[in-house]
Amino acid sequence: MNIVKTKKGLREKLDEFRAQGHKIAFVPTMGALHEGHLSLLNKASTLADKVVCSIFVNPTQFNDPEDLKKYPRPIENDIVLLESVGCDVLFLPEVEEMYPASGEEDKDWEIDLGVLDQVLEGKERPGHFKGVVQIVYKLFKAVNPDVAVFGQKDLQQVLVIESLIRQKQLPIQLVMGPTKREENGLAMSSRNIRLSDIGKQQALALSQTLARTKTRIADWQKGNGTLAEIRVKAEEELKAAPGVSLEYFALCDRKTLLDATEETAPKDLVGLVAAWVDGVRLIDNSILDPDD
Ligand code: AMP
Repeated sequence: MNIVKTKKGLREKLDEFRAQGHKIAFVPTMGALHEGHLSLLNKASTLADKVVCSIFVNPTQFNDPEDLKKYPRPIENDIVLLESVGCDVLFLPEVEEMYPASGEEDKDWEIDLGVLDQVLEGKERPGHFKGVVQIVYKLFKAVNPDVAVFGQKDLQQVLVIESLIRQKQLPIQLVMGPTKREENGLAMSSRNIRLSDIGKQQALALSQTLARTKTRIADWQKGNGTLAEIRVKAEEELKAAPGVSLEYFALCDRKTLLDATEETAPKDLVGLVAAWVDGVRLIDNSILDPDD
């Protein structure tokens, strides 16, 4: 695997690949890689000839300085994992490479995210998606990929990137990979490293409530009950779960992330949750299509 730390080094390597007619897929990450990331890299290798992964803990998308400070950075293990899935290039820039100290930051990444920046993660983490757009646009310009693969684990982020690609008319195919889970249902996350054993058990309440919600949606589709009742039930369960401090539970239209209504097509329904366990903020979601 080629490890490059500068945009110039990256361009040279990728120019070589392109000259050989290779198609390039890109998976941006913040490192502390787990099987979820690796599943995206495996998907990427089925979609293109060469796979580029970036590891960059982007300071501008952290609205909580403590979270940034505590973010795990096990780079040597990450490199071993990337080698194991045959990643071709690791782009590993320092902060100064992406945000030059000259302060001559171009603002051409700025886009209007509309509602996406005002609901759920946008509402709870002010400035987060602005930071995401800023770095992903810089990374897209540096890598210039044919395909970019993102995880459903961060569904709202996928919609934000979709909007970025559309507004900037970037010639990039966006592909979403499913959420990889532990056998017990816990969504894999780099932040899970910070959970105690008890916390890992308590965190199961998120995926379990989403699973129960999916069953209730199948019932709703048959004409039983209302979405409002299903929302309340999920909220009650999560609020009663030991060690879980609920931030939000939402039932939305997965294309817009606006609140779902009784008229929303069942195939478009998604349940999303954010909660704190052990001082760690966790998110999860599930597409609730009863036929899925
Ligand atoms: P992160 O390193 O957390 O910024 O995540 C990098 C990419 O991996 C994003 O597209 C995430 O949505 C995706 N990702 C994170 N966790 C998972 C998971 N459990 N399954 C699949 N993809 C994931």
